[in-house]
Amino acid sequence: MAGGFAKDGAVQDQIDASTQDAIDRAKRNLPKGSSRTKCEECGGKIPVARQKALKGVRLCVSCQEEVDREEITSLTINRRANKDSQLR
Ligand SMILES: [Zn+2]
Repeated sequence: MAGGFAKDGAVQDQIDASTQDAIDRAKRNLPKGSSRTKCEECGGKIPVARQKALKGVRLCVSCQEEVDREEITSLTINRRANKDSQLR
């Protein structure tokens, strides 16, 4: 293995894994290719300024906010569930 960082134990492993997870997820969510003129989710028009600001944008502002909120909610729920299982 060509890993560059030392492993101090299971906790550090877990932190590394979840950090890497978050990075991978963020990379997957990064838009690729050319911007869309219409939202993938609701078919609404995406403003030209947004298309230019976010290369490869796929969602309109309100749909993107919806996605971001869901992402945060699921992260919070997962963390709570992990804590619960540790207490039992
Ligand atoms: Zn939309």
